[in-house]
Amino acid sequence: MADLPAPRSADDDVLEIACREFVELVTEHMEGTLPKALENAIAAHLELCDPCVVYLEQMRRTAAALETLPTPTLPAAARDRVLEMFTSLHGGTDPAAPR
Ligand SMILES: [Zn+2]
Repeated sequence: MADLPAPRSADDDVLEIACREFVELVTEHMEGTLPKALENAIAAHLELCDPCVVYLEQMRRTAAALETLPTPTLPAAARDRVLEMFTSLHGGTDPAAPR
């Protein structure tokens, strides 16, 4: 009747990580800053765990999307135009303004 957990692999050289640990390490994994042992553990985990493969894919895509985003700063010319527009809409005496 005893419902034994799956037997652990006997080979202790291989470091095992859990999904939670993978999630914590994923950024460093993408940056390539992890020690070899952890990289191996991640590779081994990804072979067995589809959800983590998907997660890694999403993280990669997100990182790539962030890198290709345009800079949030407007070019000076465009900023001047916007300022001009803003001033004409809100500046001083505006006959069109509702009272
Ligand atoms: Zn996993």
